[in-house]
Amino acid sequence: MDDLSTATHARESGAHGGADQGSADRGPEDGTVRQTLSPSRASDFMTCPLLYRFRVIDKLPEPPSIATARGTLVHAVLERLFDRPAADRTPQTARALVQPEWERLAAEEPGLATLFPAEAERSVWMSEACAMLDSYFTLEDPTRLEPADRELYVETVLESGLRLRGYIDRLDVASSGDVRIVDYKTGTAPREEYEARALFQMKFYALVLWRARGRVPKLLQLMYLGNREIMRYAPDESDLRATERKVEALWRAIERAQVSGDWRPRPGKICDWCAHKAICPAFGGTPPPLRRETDSSGLAPIPALTSGSALTSSD
Ligand code: SF4
Repeated sequence: MDDLSTATHARESGAHGGADQGSADRGPEDGTVRQTLSPSRASDFMTCPLLYRFRVIDKLPEPPSIATARGTLVHAVLERLFDRPAADRTPQTARALVQPEWERLAAEEPGLATLFPAEAERSVWMSEACAMLDSYFTLEDPTRLEPADRELYVETVLESGLRLRGYIDRLDVASSGDVRIVDYKTGTAPREEYEARALFQMKFYALVLWRARGRVPKLLQLMYLGNREIMRYAPDESDLRATERKVEALWRAIERAQVSGDWRPRPGKICDWCAHKAICPAFGGTPPPLRRETDSSGLAPIPALTSGSALTSSD
């Protein structure tokens, strides 16, 4: 994949991307699309079914946190960095983008500004974001890269009718056509026993690209800015077939939970960051009544699941 570091493809346009490479999207034989799954929501269900319910079924709002806001800001700066000419993609340029990107994000999401009652707190937080951007430059040289896409929306429909979708942080395409999927993480690299979970999201994206474009991505690259580590994985077709089986099995489990209404909590480390802890029965709380009526999003009732209605979950 060395040639990816000097790839010079122009960024593709269009919400779905990749149309110029031909579609290998198979889709269900009867043309129906059942529901939609993103890697984030798939990960939610694997981590805690009740968390999935709170986010997808109940659509409970979650206030922004300092950690998620920092991730959003760092991602925004790294996306904008590649708008600049190659020679201008320096740590100084990245730092100079922090303030305007913060102002843009805060204007779009006013709740972000309330995270920092005092200017001093925001200043420290921004310094931490700048340190993460500095870390990025220790991992790769963006002056030698010309990404094919940034924040690329991808989707495909599996034969079962399940629609998979998500946003890829960055897609690099070499002159050979080899594709590298890149994801930035503002946390630290997981311990070895949790690597498979971290790679699931990347294999999910690889599966979507493979099914949509007909070519297995060459490399999956997770960049952990929190501890300056890169995790790389070269998938093959059997990997992606296994991922597809896993996603389908996961979806069947979600459907069973929708039928039974059994969204049981699965307490773990994530509870420390869960916005819904106060209403979680694992911590003495009471969830809101489970909605069983069809709402405007079509998420319920369960019989609709087998009648081909387009049901969505957000990423
Ligand atoms: S507090 Fe923990 S167990 Fe409860 S919903 Fe949140 S993640 Fe699940």
